[in-house]
Amino acid sequence: MQRENLKRLRIQLEGRVQGVGLRPYVFRLAQDLRLGGWVANSSAGVSIEIEGSANAIANFLKRFPQEKPTHALFQHMYVQDIEIQGEAHFEILPSFLEKKSTALLPDLATCSKCLEDIFDPKNRRYQYPFTNCTKCGPRFSIIEEAPYDRSRTSMRNFAMCEACQEEYDDPQDRRFHAQPNACAECGPQLRLWDKKGAVLSENHRALLQSAEAIREGKIVAVKGLGGFHFIVSAYHGEAVASLRARKHRKEKAFAVMFSSLQSLKAEAEVSSLEETLLLSAAAPIVLLKRKKISQISPQVAPQNPLLGAMLAYTPLHHLLIRELGFPLVVTSANLSGESICYDEKNALERFQGIADLFLVHDRPIIRHVDDSVLRVIGGREMMLRQARGYAPLTFEIEESCESVLALGGQMKNSVAFSYDKKILLSQYIGELQTAEARKMHRRVLQDYANLYQGKTKYIATDMHPDYFSTQEAKQWESPQVQVQHHHAHLASCMLEHGLRKKVLGVLWDGTGLGENHELWGGEFFLATRADYERVGHLMIFPLLGGEQAIYEIRRIAISLLYQLFNKDLFSKDEMQFLFEGMSQTKKSIFTKMLEERKHSQLTSSMGRLFDGVASILELRQKVSFEAQAAMELEFLADQSQSEQSYCFPLFWQDSKWIADWKPVLLEILQDKRDKIELSEIARKFHNSLAELVCQLALKLGQKQVILSGGCFQNKLLTEIILQRLKKKGFEVFWHHRVPPNDGGIALGQAIVAIDKMQEESK
Ligand code: ZN
Ligand code: ZN
Ligand code: FE
Repeated sequence: MQRENLKRLRIQLEGRVQGVGLRPYVFRLAQDLRLGGWVANSSAGVSIEIEGSANAIANFLKRFPQEKPTHALFQHMYVQDIEIQGEAHFEILPSFLEKKSTALLPDLATCSKCLEDIFDPKNRRYQYPFTNCTKCGPRFSIIEEAPYDRSRTSMRNFAMCEACQEEYDDPQDRRFHAQPNACAECGPQLRLWDKKGAVLSENHRALLQSAEAIREGKIVAVKGLGGFHFIVSAYHGEAVASLRARKHRKEKAFAVMFSSLQSLKAEAEVSSLEETLLLSAAAPIVLLKRKKISQISPQVAPQNPLLGAMLAYTPLHHLLIRELGFPLVVTSANLSGESICYDEKNALERFQGIADLFLVHDRPIIRHVDDSVLRVIGGREMMLRQARGYAPLTFEIEESCESVLALGGQMKNSVAFSYDKKILLSQYIGELQTAEARKMHRRVLQDYANLYQGKTKYIATDMHPDYFSTQEAKQWESPQVQVQHHHAHLASCMLEHGLRKKVLGVLWDGTGLGENHELWGGEFFLATRADYERVGHLMIFPLLGGEQAIYEIRRIAISLLYQLFNKDLFSKDEMQFLFEGMSQTKKSIFTKMLEERKHSQLTSSMGRLFDGVASILELRQKVSFEAQAAMELEFLADQSQSEQSYCFPLFWQDSKWIADWKPVLLEILQDKRDKIELSEIARKFHNSLAELVCQLALKLGQKQVILSGGCFQNKLLTEIILQRLKKKGFEVFWHHRVPPNDGGIALGQAIVAIDKMQEESK
């Protein structure tokens, strides 16, 4: 057969795909069509690779869903073209892990059998918090180097006892070659420390004493799988409040851990996809709709109809939570914005004054990993924070490329790199304005360099000269490629969907530096992964006092409204809410700044327009974390069913479409005067944005539209745009596994750099 006609696909299936006879079915179908390859259960579902003629592969894809076993349910099917391997025969592999070529495997949530073991008084692993088997347990967080073998993990200093060794050597045992296999005799041990690091108790006693402290409302720092968490009772309002005060986290929601799906369902609505995600071996945090009646303290997620929920995913968490009998606030141990802490000595120093007790163990954490966060949007999961169970995210690319190391953005930083035909996105690192996150950034870069022995040919960074990641690039001698922030967002989404031809990108976020030194963020690009043209944007406005405006959002409203009313703004009665408690001096400084257009950066940011509207609707005038007001505007809009929208005109200027928000604000003010429900106004604002996208897409006539940038974490906004664009015949792509926020920037930088280089070499 001619090589050109050969294809190889990787298919990842999620849903009800294990234990339903899917593997033998795939095997028979592949045999029938004379395809080579393999099928195996994987942590996320079932993985298949098939190789053969393009024809046979097309047949497979057609017949596969039609003839599938009755009980199988495909929630998601990811199909990827990959490199041909010349494989002619087909086999069922015992476990996906054996064929995976990447060095890092994800940590897997405790399986049901191990769970039975730890709660069975007759089992030798009764109450042992580090129980695991080949189907579950630590991987990513304990691997020192590849290949995955006990001697190259942080379990290497624990010699197995006779009983464990027997299991490890027995091919019939489910702990056959389970690298972190251990028991109370030979494995890691728990210890409870006081604030000074003095041992209070050990093993099960330490667990019981921690539980007692949590019950009393104390804050316990618990060394988990990929780092420390602060744990308090989710029912204990005072405990949650004191955690907020000590962690300097005023209002941002905390995640809650439940012992079982059943207990979780008492607090939140769970769809079948959400259920699948929660129960998956990745066991992420899923943002769910809270129930009205709840036992959970309102302090956990103030002003927030959502609950970030996850299920216990290690034996330690299961034992603790079952002992307590109520859900727990489980939040990454750090001060706001820092990276998660994963070393007990460091924890003791850093968390003086935060944690009352430290529950630690002696299995070193090699690699930090936070809990992943997902939200279901448009009927699909969307990754908001990519970490445990998912990272590193790997994509195959079409041609082999030079190795690129992408240093990411400033916020929600992660890094990416490429080698051969692969491109990888690291786990979430943190906000790089904190020293701890910067240290972690360096460490992660070093870690991946060691693991993949990559020799970096190119460095990709953001264009922003002040980003720590951009500064850091100076340490490399390799040639550097600067990638515009929103182009990186767009390219990351194109990569996820295997798109290469020109698309229309709707790129909305808080900020990213533009080519003209303005702060972009309400952008429309016509682009490929190598290049972009800025074909439109939100009309620019000054960001009063720069960065400060992000937190004092009335500055944005003042700046926007000044464009409408000039100086009159300051004296208008209906605008006085903007100046409440503001000194005359500050007021005159603002006036001066606006009049003289001084000390103000110009921005076209959609995120800021959301802040401005939230301020005008008097939802709040200050926020304690970025996008807080925008989120509240979304939640408010979600309470209305209105189909109406405001007029959001586009005009043509300097060869670009400018989206004029002035008429929108005027109509909003009129609705406010007319005492229209705030939820309806918020909804109409969302609808107008969807209409704006439709208008522009129709003008440009580009069939494929990409939605990327932090604003598309807004479920309502994304779903309305999706619906309206689809109705008009557009093909819409949004984020699933790559975060739409700055957590995906590094991946975009890497692929832009690769494609640019390839274009140049042509
Ligand atoms: Zn297990
Ligand atoms: Zn043992
Ligand atoms: Fe961004």
